[in-house]
Amino acid sequence: METEYRFLSYFCSIFNFLQMKIHEHQAKEILKKYGVPVPIGYVAYTVEQAVEAARMLPTDIAVVKAQIHAGGRGKGGGVKIARSPEDVGKLAQHMLGMTLITHQTGPEGRKVSRLLIEQGVDILKEYYAGIVLDRATAKNVVMVSTEGGMEIEKVAEESPEKIVKVFVDPAIGFRDFEARELAFALGLLGEAFKQCVAFLKALYRAYEDTDASLFEINPLVLTRDAKMIALDAKVNFDDNAMFRHPEYAPLRDLAEEDPLEVEASKSNLNYIKLDGNVGCMVNGAGLAMATMDIIKLAGGEPANFLDVGGGANKDTVAEGFRIILSDPHVKAILINIFGGIVRCDRVATGVVEASHLVHPTVPIVVRLEGTNAEEAGVILQKSGLNFLVAKGMADAAKKVTQALAA
Ligand code: GDP
Ligand code: MN
Repeated sequence: METEYRFLSYFCSIFNFLQMKIHEHQAKEILKKYGVPVPIGYVAYTVEQAVEAARMLPTDIAVVKAQIHAGGRGKGGGVKIARSPEDVGKLAQHMLGMTLITHQTGPEGRKVSRLLIEQGVDILKEYYAGIVLDRATAKNVVMVSTEGGMEIEKVAEESPEKIVKVFVDPAIGFRDFEARELAFALGLLGEAFKQCVAFLKALYRAYEDTDASLFEINPLVLTRDAKMIALDAKVNFDDNAMFRHPEYAPLRDLAEEDPLEVEASKSNLNYIKLDGNVGCMVNGAGLAMATMDIIKLAGGEPANFLDVGGGANKDTVAEGFRIILSDPHVKAILINIFGGIVRCDRVATGVVEASHLVHPTVPIVVRLEGTNAEEAGVILQKSGLNFLVAKGMADAAKKVTQALAA
């Protein structure tokens, strides 16, 4: 059971990795194109641009919003109301360059390098709307809740009945009566009801058209003049569909991504940084997950997921090795390769070459099995470097956790 859970958590982090995230201001630009109402606003990278943006707004009241790829900004001090362009300038001065810590950023926080300057909106009530792919039913699920503005995870946990869902068959699409059902569930009447139906339909169209994997509008607000507006917008795209949307490639903000993950993606390595201290270099996603599980079983914590791929050559291996070693949390390394397409001797050569370049100071346990495993063993032994050779996965996990303790 526990193993199953761990497997799932790795899977989720990998799935998360397969989503491309964008900033709120970019998400709103896209929504606007699909007729989803959003506040008028402009992005600003400097204080001057922020003041200029504030002057262009139709309202005196402006909202200054830190743009980072994480939510919870409101509570963390990343969303502030200003009364004048001068006010906006002062807030921008304070926010640009600051490290914003929210419950989603982790304790290290995120540096704020851009702001969204938006018109103030007169809010009557805040709601939640979201669309996500539900893998269990193979349908898109459109969700709404009257508990907008709050952490939706909390609502889901404490009062799940307050989230109303409609499962949409992608072959049929989102039907009018389904949109009405959701608007009705929010208790809306008259003009607000009509606005909400139109909002949800436009939102769904945008979701499908952009090959998104997640849309989250929190809050979706009802204004005093009965308009439904997306006050916040989180949009993730399905990475695997991005070849169909070259226009979204420039929206990627590498500054928001883990630097090691960015480097790894340049070499086509599937690398995800985790919190432990055992660096893992494995080929194949399944073997990588099994390796992480067995490390945990032996009492260790993996520092990363790294799948060097079935067709790994000595250069990709060297690059993967270098990336693992540049994580200061790594205190021991386990190399677990099954030589099928990739031959073990090539992997061994890559590891030895990389070691000459990077001079690892942490213990390295190697388990190579399959094509040319014996040649690989000889290469490792002749290298003069201090590798711990393991026989089988359990032995490898035991050796690497013992090396940690030593
Ligand atoms: P998050 O905390 O990162 O999810 O950022 P949000 O964009 O959701 O903003 C947090 C909160 O700021 C919202 O729930 C609103 O209550 C408030 N807020 C944002 N924009 C406006 C606005 O134009 N007018 C008013 N009155 N409040 C706003
Ligand atoms: Mn929000």
